Amino acid sequence: MLEQSVSEIPSVGEKTKEQLELLNIRKVEDLLFHFPFRYDFLELKSLQEIAHDEVASIEGEVATEPHVSYFGKKKNRLTCTIQVGLVAVKAVFFNQAFLKDQLTMGKTVTLTGKWDMHRLQLTVHKFHRETFDEAEYIEPVYSTKGSLTNPMIKKMIAYSLKAALPEVKEMLPPDYLHNYKLPGRQEAIHTMHRPENKYALKHAKRRFIYEELLLFQLKMQWIRQVEKEKTEGSKKVFTNELVSGFIKSLPFDLTPSQKRVNDEILSDLSSEQRMNRLLQGDVGSGKTVVAALGIYATKLSGQQGALMVPTEILAEQHVESLSEIFGVQLNIELLTGSIKGKKRQAILERLVAGEIDLLVGTHALIQPDTHFHQLGIVIVDEQHRFGVAQRKQLRDKGLTPDVLFMTATPIPRTLSITSFGDMDVSVIDEMPKGRLPVETYWVKENMLERVHQFIVKEAEKGHQSYIICPLIEESDQLDIQNAVDVYNDLGERMPGHIKVGLMHGRLKSDEKDDMMRAFANNEIQVLVSTTVIEVGVNVPNASLMVIYDAERFGLAQLHQLRGRVGRGHTQSYCILLADPKSENGKERMQVMTETNDGFELSEHDLKIRGPGDFFGKKQSGLPEFKVADLVEDYRALEVARKDAVEIMKKDLLNKDKNYVLIKEMLENDPYLQERIFD
Ligand code: ADP
Ligand code: MG
Repeated sequence: MLEQSVSEIPSVGEKTKEQLELLNIRKVEDLLFHFPFRYDFLELKSLQEIAHDEVASIEGEVATEPHVSYFGKKKNRLTCTIQVGLVAVKAVFFNQAFLKDQLTMGKTVTLTGKWDMHRLQLTVHKFHRETFDEAEYIEPVYSTKGSLTNPMIKKMIAYSLKAALPEVKEMLPPDYLHNYKLPGRQEAIHTMHRPENKYALKHAKRRFIYEELLLFQLKMQWIRQVEKEKTEGSKKVFTNELVSGFIKSLPFDLTPSQKRVNDEILSDLSSEQRMNRLLQGDVGSGKTVVAALGIYATKLSGQQGALMVPTEILAEQHVESLSEIFGVQLNIELLTGSIKGKKRQAILERLVAGEIDLLVGTHALIQPDTHFHQLGIVIVDEQHRFGVAQRKQLRDKGLTPDVLFMTATPIPRTLSITSFGDMDVSVIDEMPKGRLPVETYWVKENMLERVHQFIVKEAEKGHQSYIICPLIEESDQLDIQNAVDVYNDLGERMPGHIKVGLMHGRLKSDEKDDMMRAFANNEIQVLVSTTVIEVGVNVPNASLMVIYDAERFGLAQLHQLRGRVGRGHTQSYCILLADPKSENGKERMQVMTETNDGFELSEHDLKIRGPGDFFGKKQSGLPEFKVADLVEDYRALEVARKDAVEIMKKDLLNKDKNYVLIKEMLENDPYLQERIFD
């Protein structure tokens, strides 16, 4: 029965079947696992405890004869007075005239409904026929689609429980059930739909949270294992002294974080297993330098490196700053989409001959015609643009280099990616000494005049400003119009010698690059832009960031934008122009003025937005959890991770018959199939 279509259920016709499909319910089994998304706990309360408009349950004595009035064809309204303690409450029932006989004078009744504190009136949702015990009043509430209703779903589930529950097999090995005191699968499913009490419900949920997280962790560990599989030639051979010598030659000392991360990377490089590591660190925390050390070690081992970045201008900047770091010790070459013809051909030839140590560029780097002599390491700046497809491209070329991803999006400590990702993680969580933190101010629109004066003042000092215009969702037309307006306005207000530039998403990518270059060369002092400048561009001379309608941006984005300034030696400023109406918005502006720590901000962001939004489901490849919550169930996640690591290490999926069902579930998982079995 489990595998049967829902249409086998007597109450399910063609239309219902279609609507169930919208909820991803096709088989009877799917119905069993369509858990309520919420439970209404109907506890008895005294009137004083109930807030206005709250749905609650009360008990009282029928004090007047019920009165029914009819209107329309099938509509009616029943009212009667219920004495609750000293208060006479007016109970109103819509279309429940049939209850009239139940409401006899002097009888004690229990009612659940919405409380109107001012009119002393309860709009009754449910009349309870029996004495109030906890069991009856945990009301499961299911997500529905179309014309499906909660009672319809309850009815189908009731049928499925009867017909199919006995067929459900346990998939967790007995040890786990025993050690964690988890209810069995059948029992837990039953409880999820028909909880006897809160206590039983809690344990049933606990079971499915663990089940879900364990499967998820096993997936991650499996991917991790495959990605890291020992590969011929992955091990780099180099002398640590040479790397240390190089570190000494740098114009600064590494921060303790940088040293730690450097050790982690070098140890990955010298192991037989492939590196698959994420390097997290706030903008300006010094990730690039650490990556450079990895590239240097790779070169010492006679292999090449590739550094991939999202935009051409960033690629150019990296070539510039890395050339400065390495001098003649490394042959660095730039390869982007706009390098064509003979020039490109020449680069490709030198690349395959092994004359280039490090190739820097956009994804043009892994096009079919680029062939390396011996590619040892790939470094990806701003991790999200490099995904499954690019890995496959590399693999198809027979390349299995060490891979290091760098990201400036701080992941909240409470969500440490180590516990849910398929990568190892390194974190740089401090800034180099002597950095001046950006001073952030939050002002309202009426201060615009003063803000303009400030822009002029910075320009007079020889510094530059970014002006970020609001992002208008749903309409990039308006978005651009806005930027154009601000640009025109500023153009009029700024003295003639201060040049203003405009940048937005409609510009072609070479136009954007030209504009960015002009700004980087200080040919333009004030750059008006939509958020397109967000990614990693480095203009150390820029000291002011003004963000219009800042309340429209999320914390992470504001922090990224602010990271564009404060890169030089002078004091930098960030001005948030905002008049947020919501508490949420006010809080965000306040937090921005209080901290420069990306990790702290990300914690706030997580609290405000929740984990689903935080990562962006599509982008992260994170599955949507049905029962578990990455934040709330953080501890369970850690436990599941530990267990998954052990299961993989002992190869229990293959060796222990208690794991047969888990293995089967994993093998049928679409995400795992995409990542591993392609
Ligand atoms: P990220 O890539 O994390 O944004 P970078 O590696 O580009 O940061 O470093 C930002 C700036 O800080 C660069 O100019 C770099 O030379 C400098 N820097 C890096 N590490 C240190 C350090 N330990 N001490 C002083 N300056 C540093
Ligand atoms: Mg960087």
